[in-house]
Amino acid sequence: MFRKILIANRGEIACRVITAARDMGVRTVAVYSDADRDARHVALADEAQRIGPPAVRESYLNSDAILAAARKAGAEAIHPGYGFLSENEDFAAACAREGIVFIGPVPEAIAAMGDKSAAKRLMEKAGVPLVPGYHGEKQDPAFLKTEADQTGYPVLIKAAAGGGGKGMRIVQDGNAFVAALESARREAKSSFGDDRVLLEKYLERPRHIEVQVFGDTHGNLVYLFERDCSVQRRHQKLLEEAPAPGLSPGRRKQMGEAAVAAARAIKYTGAGTVEFIAAQDGAFYFMEMNTRLQVEHPVTEMITGLDLVKWQLAVAAGEPLPLKQKDLAFRGHAIEARIYAENPAKGFLPSTGTLRHLREPKGIEFCVPSAGMNGSVRVDSGVRQGDVITPHYDPMIAKLIVWGEDRAIALGRMRAALAGVEIVGVASNVEFLARTVASKAFSSADLDTHLIERCRDELFPADAGVGDEELAAAAFAELLAEEAQAAAKAKISGDPYSPWNRVDGWRPNLGSHHELVFAEGDRSHCVTVHFTVTGLRFSAGEREYALAGAEDDGVLRVMLGDASFRIRAVRDGIDWHLFRDGVHHVLTLQSVQTAPALDAIIGTLAAPMPGKVLQILVQPGAAVAKGAPLVILEAMKMEHTIAAPHDGRVAAIYFKPGDQVDEGAELLQLDPA
Ligand code: ADP
Ligand code: ADP
Ligand code: MG
Repeated sequence: MFRKILIANRGEIACRVITAARDMGVRTVAVYSDADRDARHVALADEAQRIGPPAVRESYLNSDAILAAARKAGAEAIHPGYGFLSENEDFAAACAREGIVFIGPVPEAIAAMGDKSAAKRLMEKAGVPLVPGYHGEKQDPAFLKTEADQTGYPVLIKAAAGGGGKGMRIVQDGNAFVAALESARREAKSSFGDDRVLLEKYLERPRHIEVQVFGDTHGNLVYLFERDCSVQRRHQKLLEEAPAPGLSPGRRKQMGEAAVAAARAIKYTGAGTVEFIAAQDGAFYFMEMNTRLQVEHPVTEMITGLDLVKWQLAVAAGEPLPLKQKDLAFRGHAIEARIYAENPAKGFLPSTGTLRHLREPKGIEFCVPSAGMNGSVRVDSGVRQGDVITPHYDPMIAKLIVWGEDRAIALGRMRAALAGVEIVGVASNVEFLARTVASKAFSSADLDTHLIERCRDELFPADAGVGDEELAAAAFAELLAEEAQAAAKAKISGDPYSPWNRVDGWRPNLGSHHELVFAEGDRSHCVTVHFTVTGLRFSAGEREYALAGAEDDGVLRVMLGDASFRIRAVRDGIDWHLFRDGVHHVLTLQSVQTAPALDAIIGTLAAPMPGKVLQILVQPGAAVAKGAPLVILEAMKMEHTIAAPHDGRVAAIYFKPGDQVDEGAELLQLDPA
């Protein structure tokens, strides 16, 4: 086994590889761009090397800088992760020239699968089923149009050098073909520097089912069963699961053997994935092979109890595969959800910013429950609270993986796990994932690659907005925060008995009330909390309830009227983020007004507590209406507005701004109208 390896990647996959290597006693070297100096993967590795500025071309795609770092650190091998240089045959070849082991297949195998057209020609020879279409060298538009006509519409145009869903166009009929071809070519040229395309029959309700394969340098090849990755947005996976629901053992064997045949055709070594597109009737066709570890490999690990990264290291070190096909089995069901910093309501637009608050469900890193280890929730994360999601890299925050004895149990665990995720600072797809997991189509395993569009109404419901319970929780959290702040100030001032530092700020302040205005989006909500002898009363509009609550380790237990519920409230500046059962509301505190009890001041207009006069809002002789603000007092570090208890005329004012007043001091005289 290697003594030291370098990980040429970042984020969760770099962390994943580092953890596995450490567990094998292998030292790890991280690489980082200037944007990642303080990233989690850097902190986790035994050592780290800077490779350049933030832009990927100059850092994570910079082969020379990465090889130089490997030389300097004395790394014997490089793990490329996924994305970046993982499917770059020139990089794999450059590693070989330097005498460094590339943890992946040989450059020839990468090249054979890197070109989708050439790969399909190879697969055809190996007897692997293909989607009808054209994958030859001829690229003349008129010729391609004839091929498309023959294949029959709808037709899918794909970039031969494509990946990541780029350069793909669906063509519904012959008239649209030439324009779609031109646009696919333009995108392919700018993304891959290669504008060759292939044509495929566009399947109407397909499923994406892929098979995990593994080969070693001794000629052994096995398949580690399949994953269903049908739930996609923009042709990119969002939810993945293993095994594929409804796949019969016979079909599983067929697909597994077809995948092994595909891998054998290129003498494949290491971890690879053969992607198939499957029709609803079960017929399946080769789509492409990814010659690397896949993002969604954890679901395979959860059902087989194997660690694929450890297998990769073993194979790269020349060891034979630890198991034969007949010894491989799986148990239970696993689901992965990819948590992205993106806004589903805005076309899944990526979102950038600082993760000011990040809470993940308690998971066990890299647990393999089917191997008898504890735990059924796994979180593969590349970030910590305080880290920044930058525009330079993929906006994935973490992967949430759950395992259950069967799919229904796994689904329940996924719902619970998603409800435990809290993200403040960037938009995220957490609520969207929760709705998708709970949707009728997904829960009944009615899967196809258009699930998201098909279930649009269910997945993008009209915004329900906050209810009284959330508003009451936010008001309660705000009062608690104010009280805590007053207590902290009292501690610092060193005079705990000073009336200015009374920590019982609001509670004994019977008869007074707080008026709070919260905004959600462009809707404002004005609510009031009254302090009465029997406790707090909360009102919103016409509705009024008794309010009580307590905080325990960040969780608020709120009792509103007859309802009792748990909610987490996180303050970020003037925003309150409320998380309850997987639903996230943001309420911006627009104003707090504290008013003493009107009963207490009727007729007398006395100061309800000792304080300082901040402002006099009226002139002697002024006519005022009931409720008009007259004087603002500062007391207990809060502003209190004294309002007119009835219509009247201001007869006299006894203080000026800046004056200190005692409790009970008459502030002004208001003659009834
Ligand atoms: P990429 O290299 O971008 O991953 P793929 O060839 O793997 O491209 O296709 C990506 C996705 O596009 C698939 O997972 C599937 O959802 C859809 N797709 C690909 N080929 C077809 C097809 N022939 N018919 C219908 N959908 C397809
Ligand atoms: P898989 O096919 O393994 O499920 P994806 O195709 O979704 O995974 O993602 C694999 C790869 O990693 C890329 O194709 C790419 O989308 C992603 N990736 C990783 N890092 C980056 C990055 N810095 N910029 C863009 N894409 C990245
Ligand atoms: Mg693909």
